[in-house]
Amino acid sequence: MVVLVVNCGSSSLKYILYDMRTETVAATGLIERIGGGGDQHAVVHHRPTDKDRVDYESSIEDHYAAVQETVKLLTTGEGKVLNHLDEIDAVGHRVVHGGEAFCSAVLINEPVIKAIEACVSLAPLHNPPNLLGIRACMAALPGKPQVAVFDTAFHQTMPRRAYLYALPYELYERHGIRRYGFHGTSHYYVARRAAEMLTQMGRDGAHARIVTCHLGNGCSMSAVADGVCVDTSMGMTPLEGLVMGTRSGDIDPAIIPFLEEKLGKTGAEIERMLNRESGLLGLSGTSNDMRDVSEAARNGHEGARAAVDVFCYRVRKYIGAYAAAMGGLDAVVFTAGIGENSPELRERILMGLSFLGLDVDPERNRSGRGDRVISTPESRAAAFVIRTQEELVIARETLEACKQAVAAG
Ligand code: ADP
Repeated sequence: MVVLVVNCGSSSLKYILYDMRTETVAATGLIERIGGGGDQHAVVHHRPTDKDRVDYESSIEDHYAAVQETVKLLTTGEGKVLNHLDEIDAVGHRVVHGGEAFCSAVLINEPVIKAIEACVSLAPLHNPPNLLGIRACMAALPGKPQVAVFDTAFHQTMPRRAYLYALPYELYERHGIRRYGFHGTSHYYVARRAAEMLTQMGRDGAHARIVTCHLGNGCSMSAVADGVCVDTSMGMTPLEGLVMGTRSGDIDPAIIPFLEEKLGKTGAEIERMLNRESGLLGLSGTSNDMRDVSEAARNGHEGARAAVDVFCYRVRKYIGAYAAAMGGLDAVVFTAGIGENSPELRERILMGLSFLGLDVDPERNRSGRGDRVISTPESRAAAFVIRTQEELVIARETLEACKQAVAAG
């Protein structure tokens, strides 16, 4: 089985082609600046495994043309990895918001497209390009099964007490205002991997209480008990929760009308500020990239030190909250760009959590590669670094949804 995984943004298309017999990557690619118009060409990067990379600029006017370009790259020229388009068995799409309609991956048909369209008001920036990608693949690869895998699906098991906001109840009923959570495929993958690793350590992985920390450009945490998500830090939108590259995470909602009055800003301008000008960038005044901010903090930059302090403190606070929510803690997992690559921040976050039974091993934390344990052998709760593999999960679930559809006839 060969599965093409597609992730469409408003002006970009990312793809990964998997050979699912061995779960190996045959090629990855990115087409940026789709539909630039005028003189602005799209930029194409194609990375076939074991072959030279292919990079060029070309006029690509929409997502349909981008899918056709992808197919051309995969099946012709120097970087080809397939002899014929027919070798692709299915296409898996990352879809950001599935609302309450989807708690697992689904084979796409017209009712599914309608249900994804119904979630557009909840994710106006993300779901429309995801839908464009789906329609483009349906047109360019007719007859191939298309599967939607949702960022929100893993969090659908949260109990009501975790997903309801204390707002007038009819806002939930009429407008779907509640916590949905995002990065679901990542939290699912690393929680399952952590459960496996706990079992290998002779502990009860299947019934573990695990806190997963996805710390990348976007950051979120989940509480996972007995393999299911019971709480997560992102909310109705990805703005809530942790400090992120440019997002504020949690703030007092009364700050918004205060700013409207004090600064004469509109709601849209404040929303932009909270999403694009806050977080590490806003606090440090230097960068949204943790490598730059950490470096500046090490050099004594006050804003950058404040940004790192607030970032780490917020993660710690959520670890404590989720340990309390689950009635204990068996593991903490770090994943994504910051989580996988910054021993310094992992140590700052975990230091002094012995009262929760968690003791980080400074040596293990600083050395080693791949998925690994970074707590001491005696630590009652384990700490792990696990590389997230969201695209592989999408490919696996695509295959699974296809198998189920065949079985159901
Ligand atoms: P995305 O959410 O876009 O997938 P990533 O998971 O790649 O992002 O994470 C990007 C973040 O990871 C950036 O803030 C980057 O600075 C940070 N990062 C990557 N490597 C390191 C490192 N060695 N130390 C600290 N931060 C790092």
